[in-house]
Amino acid sequence: MKLCCIHCFSDEYLRRFVQENGQSGNCQYCGTQKTTTISTAVIGDFVRDKLICAYTRSTSDVGPYDSEDKVYLWGDPTDGLYAWEILLSEECVLSSRAWTDDSVAEKLAQDLVMDSGPDSRDIAQGADDWLGGDALLVLRNKFFGPQDTGFHEGWHGLKERLQRARFFDCPSHGESRAEILRPVLDLIEQATITLDAGTSLWRARRIYDDRPPPVGELKATEIGPAPPRLTNGKRMSPPGISYMYLASDGDTACAEVAWEHVDSRVWLGEFNLRSELKILDLTGKTAAYAGSIFSPTYDHSLRWAPQIMHGFANEISKPIEGTQEELEYVPTQVLSEYVRLFAGVNGIAYKSAKRATAVNYVLFCGRAPDHPGSWTAAAAVPFSDWMELGQLQDIRSAPPSAPAGSL
Ligand SMILES: [Zn+2]
Repeated sequence: MKLCCIHCFSDEYLRRFVQENGQSGNCQYCGTQKTTTISTAVIGDFVRDKLICAYTRSTSDVGPYDSEDKVYLWGDPTDGLYAWEILLSEECVLSSRAWTDDSVAEKLAQDLVMDSGPDSRDIAQGADDWLGGDALLVLRNKFFGPQDTGFHEGWHGLKERLQRARFFDCPSHGESRAEILRPVLDLIEQATITLDAGTSLWRARRIYDDRPPPVGELKATEIGPAPPRLTNGKRMSPPGISYMYLASDGDTACAEVAWEHVDSRVWLGEFNLRSELKILDLTGKTAAYAGSIFSPTYDHSLRWAPQIMHGFANEISKPIEGTQEELEYVPTQVLSEYVRLFAGVNGIAYKSAKRATAVNYVLFCGRAPDHPGSWTAAAAVPFSDWMELGQLQDIRSAPPSAPAGSL
C-alpha cells in the first residue's frame, strides 16, 4: 500500500477527502512526516468516480466518421489525454509540494489511477479498465462543446428569429424570449461583479463648435445620456431608450468618441458612483463557473460557460458596418433588456474595441424624463440616482498646423 498525504494536493475537495478518510503517517511522495495520509487506492477510487462525471473515452464521443474523406466529422479520437495527464495538466490537482520533483508528481498521478483500477488478474479475466492503460480521455461533449448547451441553441435560434422572422415577443407563438434565455441566468449570476461606491467612470462627448462649456446643473445634463427622443439605436439600447455608456478611464472615453489629436474638441466628464452596482462582466476576467470536478456541486454543463460568455463578449464588441447596424444590434439589445429585467444587474462591462486593456460599461440608467411622471420614468432610472458628476473638462487638441508657405 502506498501513502500520499493532504499536502500532496491543491484541490480543496481532495484535501477534504484526505482529512475525512485519512490517518496519521508519513507521505511517500512529497515526503511530509507525521501528517494525514491516505492510500493511493482509496483516494484513487474517489478520483475515478469524479473523473467519470466529466470525462469519457475519446473513442466513445467522437461522432460520425466520413469514410470518403477518412475523417471524424466532429473531432479526432487521438486528440485525448491519459487519466493521469488530466489530473496533472487539466484538473491541476497536485500541490507545489508534490511538484518539487516532476517525476514524483507523475508517479503519484499514475498511482492514483492504477492502484484504484482492476488489477492484472482481473484484467486477464476480462475486466475493462476504461480509465487506465492506453485509454485516451476527453471531456464529455468535448466534440459538441458549447453547441450542446441549451443556451447556445436558444441564443442562436433567438437571434435568427429576431433578425429574420419577427421582432416582438409573442409567447403564444412558441417560447418567449425569457424562456429561451433562462438557461443563461446561472451564467450571468456567476459572471456578476460589484462596482464599489465611489468608483470613477468616464464619459466623453464630441463638440463640433465653439459653444462655451456648461455651468452649474447643466454640466451633468450636457455630458449625460441623450434624451430618449434623440436616442438612436445602439448596441445595447433600442432607439428611444437612453442608457449610460461609460469607460473605465478618460483616454478610453475619448477614444470611443473618435477624439483626435488634431483639431478636435471633447467634453470629458468624470462620474463617481453614489452606491455599489451589480455588473455583468463580459471582459473575460471572471471565470470559475463549473469549478472543481471533485466538488459535490460540480455541473458539467457549465464547463463551456467561459466560451459562451466569450461568444457574447465578441458579439457585443465586434464592429458592425453601416446598413447592417440596426439589424445586428437587435439581439444584443434584447440580451441587455433581459439581463436588466430578469437578472437584476445594473449594467454590463465589456472590452473596449479601441484600447486593448480598457473596459467599457453600459449602465441601465438614462436621462431623467423631461416631464415628471411621464412613461419614460419607468423605462430607466435617471443616471443622477446612481452617480454624480465629479469634474467636467473641456479639452481641445492642437489646431491643424498651417500649410507650409501660407505665411
Ligand atoms: Zn504528500
